[in-house]
Amino acid sequence: MGTDRLGPMVTMLLILSALGCTTETSWLRKGYVARIQRADSSISSDRETAYQNTVQVRWLGTAGFHISLGDEQVLLDPFFSQQSLLGSVFTKLEVRDDVTEKRIGDVSEVDGILVGHAHWDHLLDVPDVAIHHAKKAISYGSLTTFNLLRALDVPHDRVKRASREVWLTIPNTNIRFKAYRSKHSPHVDRIIHLYQGKVKTLPKEPPTWASDFKEGRTLTYVIQFMDESGENSKFTIFYADSASGGMRGLPDLDETGDIDLAILTVAAWKNVDDYVETKLKCLKPKHVILTHYDDFFMEPEEEMEFLTMAYMTDFLKEIQETAREANLPTVFWIPARGSQINFPLATRD
Ligand SMILES: [Zn+2]
Repeated sequence: MGTDRLGPMVTMLLILSALGCTTETSWLRKGYVARIQRADSSISSDRETAYQNTVQVRWLGTAGFHISLGDEQVLLDPFFSQQSLLGSVFTKLEVRDDVTEKRIGDVSEVDGILVGHAHWDHLLDVPDVAIHHAKKAISYGSLTTFNLLRALDVPHDRVKRASREVWLTIPNTNIRFKAYRSKHSPHVDRIIHLYQGKVKTLPKEPPTWASDFKEGRTLTYVIQFMDESGENSKFTIFYADSASGGMRGLPDLDETGDIDLAILTVAAWKNVDDYVETKLKCLKPKHVILTHYDDFFMEPEEEMEFLTMAYMTDFLKEIQETAREANLPTVFWIPARGSQINFPLATRD
């Protein structure tokens, strides 16, 4: 059954990793269809045409992504060093470079690393990734992100501030992006909001505790793969690495044009007002990939489980209700860690 025949129904694509993951069906709404399929395999460079004309989106876990269009590639919030909640609070953070090595894949062509905010589950692994894996990439983020990365010995010419509301082009690519001022959700209910604040100057010591990784300004991004003329976007992505209420963090669509793909964080979405509904109704994305719903307090080798504060079942109900109410044609994707979703440019409509 093709999506055309589903009318206003939402097609949900649940991608299972090679490791498998639990399938729960209680979130399915009457009248909706769930389609379950395996993740796409990556399109290697020797299949030239598909490689050059397919946006490949690989979920790294937590809020991390590797996004490619041919050799034009970016990383978003790459993070692998999962550790227990208690450990993260009461001991110094552990950079698990062995886990990164196993999971990151080939990111040697990556020219830019975008970071939405500076909490440890977004920033901790960026220095290792930038220095040992994405060796030519420039990392971009808030002033806090900039200062923490500098304190962690990322070379000065490899870190830049993502100026808000200004298009920046990643050197040696046709990828441009713009950062928008957003706001981080509280972590527990609407009360507990961990590690707030900014790092406005270069710290004397490198950050080692979770509390050193202060949030800084939370940013959303619009990322565009531009054509050769530099005037038209071939594929436009909206990325939110934290849930934010209402209109916060939304771009001006008159300027960006249609959103092909919105990547939306699930974690703590209930702790802000009107996140799902406003984001979906305003962005009207063709595709949505859900992210940051996995429990990153588990050991990395354990099978993935949903983060408690993701309230995944309710989130899935909410997106389905919103999509039906607003008659959105959006396809929702729920990736498994390491899985890849391919968007061929020619047929993405
Ligand atoms: Zn955070």
